Amino acid sequence: MISFEGVTKRYKDGRAAVDGLSFEVKKGEFFVLIGPSGCGKTTVLKMMNRLIESSSGQIAIDGRPVGDYKLNELRWNIGYVLQQIALFPHMSIAENVALVPELMGRPREEVTKTVDALLYKVGLDPNVYRSKRPSELSGGQQQRVGVVRALAADPDILLMDEPFSALDPVTREKLQNDLLEIQRSIHKTIVFVTHDMREALKLGDRICLMNGGKIVQLGTPSEIVHQPANEFVREFLGDAIGGSTDRLGLPPLTAEDLIDPLELDGRLIAEGAVTIGADTEVSELLWHLAAEERLLVRRGDEVIGLLERERALKRIAREFEEGGDN
Ligand code: ADP
Ligand code: MG
Repeated sequence: MISFEGVTKRYKDGRAAVDGLSFEVKKGEFFVLIGPSGCGKTTVLKMMNRLIESSSGQIAIDGRPVGDYKLNELRWNIGYVLQQIALFPHMSIAENVALVPELMGRPREEVTKTVDALLYKVGLDPNVYRSKRPSELSGGQQQRVGVVRALAADPDILLMDEPFSALDPVTREKLQNDLLEIQRSIHKTIVFVTHDMREALKLGDRICLMNGGKIVQLGTPSEIVHQPANEFVREFLGDAIGGSTDRLGLPPLTAEDLIDPLELDGRLIAEGAVTIGADTEVSELLWHLAAEERLLVRRGDEVIGLLERERALKRIAREFEEGGDN
């Protein structure tokens, strides 16, 4: 859906801020770009919607080079959420959100309906918030409106540049959860920039770790955690999960806490999938999840549920954030 082929960006000083980057973001994927400040994340994002032109290489969306799109066509199909909240202060929430779809010529009635539905989705009752001004909302609420505004024109792609970085940890976590929930129903292609590995592990289907304008590792959360490509990845992970699994300060979770009761499938039992005890602790569980995509969980002789690698890892990452106190 979005592809980069040998993309380089040199600013005026001649240094490559992005250096020969090649990767692909799949349709409907939650793709996280992560790396230290100055590694080129924002530049990558802005080249996707041509706020910045690349110096060389090819960027394509749905197989078509971004340079071939009309600028409006491109921007309207790509929602953009920034860290700094950028709502127009003199306009109501509804007006802020409806701006782009109305510019696109969508019928007002349809726009109002979409806006109300989206406000509702992010936990802002439209009857209460529709006519408020941005200054009447908290930072977290304003950022929710930012997300709604980016989605209002129903773009295929959503670019988010450290959208939650300025929020306090509690608000931040709420918005992360809401975003995951929304993504479950809208299935956009999301490229999300962060410098926080815990946020990346929690949200990403895949994570692209950058340094100095290059990709250091691109993989699923579980690949990043269990097969870090080098010391840089390990160090970056260290901030999020304490470096190694025995220093994790792991939440007191067992396999049983993590099973997904809905997904139990008789075939897996028949196929002889690996089975672990319900009381298996997280530290040991991580080892099993590194080796197996799916694990059956047993209590006594009875199989009580299924653990799926990605989902279980996300759950565990989430528990870390909450300090493992539930
Ligand atoms: P990140 O978002 O990962 O912090 P950026 O993409 O903003 O990184 O920046 C990557 C590098 O490019 C940095 O070294 C930054 O100083 C440089 N850079 C960014 N924008 C410009 C610009 N407009 N002119 C010159 N250098 C820039
Ligand atoms: Mg940036």
